[in-house]
Amino acid sequence: MGRALWLPHILFEAGLVVHEVDGWQTRGSSTFDPRWQVFHHTASYAGSDHPSLNICTNGRSDLAGPLCNVLVARNGDCYVVASGRANHAGTGRYPDGTTGNSLSIGWECENNGTGEPWPDAQLEAIAVGQAAVARHLGQPASSVIYHRTFAPGRKIDPAGPGIPQDVTVWQARVAATMTGEPDMPLNDADLFTIGVIVKQCLADTGLATLSEKEKRRAQKLRARLQRIEAELDQADA
Ligand SMILES: [Zn+2]
Repeated sequence: MGRALWLPHILFEAGLVVHEVDGWQTRGSSTFDPRWQVFHHTASYAGSDHPSLNICTNGRSDLAGPLCNVLVARNGDCYVVASGRANHAGTGRYPDGTTGNSLSIGWECENNGTGEPWPDAQLEAIAVGQAAVARHLGQPASSVIYHRTFAPGRKIDPAGPGIPQDVTVWQARVAATMTGEPDMPLNDADLFTIGVIVKQCLADTGLATLSEKEKRRAQKLRARLQRIEAELDQADA
């Protein structure tokens, strides 16, 4: 498959706040064929939002970066660090191989791992993001595993209040997120219909009632609609 250049787009489409870290497109080896996903905690000190971004991007003295594909901040924002293979899984075992780094998307998630409660918004972002990636890869929710599932005995992550002890409970949460409508490519007619609805909503309620995220999406939809309307006008003329 090669690089996961689709990562920021599908996370954004899933409704997440996505930051592209400079150089993500070429970071990590292109010898990469992701089929599953590994969930980690960063073991960072509690109290700041995404303190591991630099180390996840550039590595540390004993391990070259990138150290994940996506870093999830304590507030749930997703930082896309690398499109290629990252050093996150190490030695372990999964049904279709032991080369975890080549075969999996690595999720590093900010938590100290020693009892810091995981915020709901962060857990929800992780589940939604992993569901979107699994759907893109055409894989079931059971393709999302913990690092300790891959390397039992050697690794304890992810840990802490909010993380189910049993990985199948987490996989069920990811699965529940995946059971919504499957991805459906929208044609111009669909977009036109959506646009009419969006315009009606905006006329009824105004932008003020929308959250920042909804506002950005509504404005993008409106811009797409205006382009389609302009094309239709040209075609009619
Ligand atoms: Zn780990």
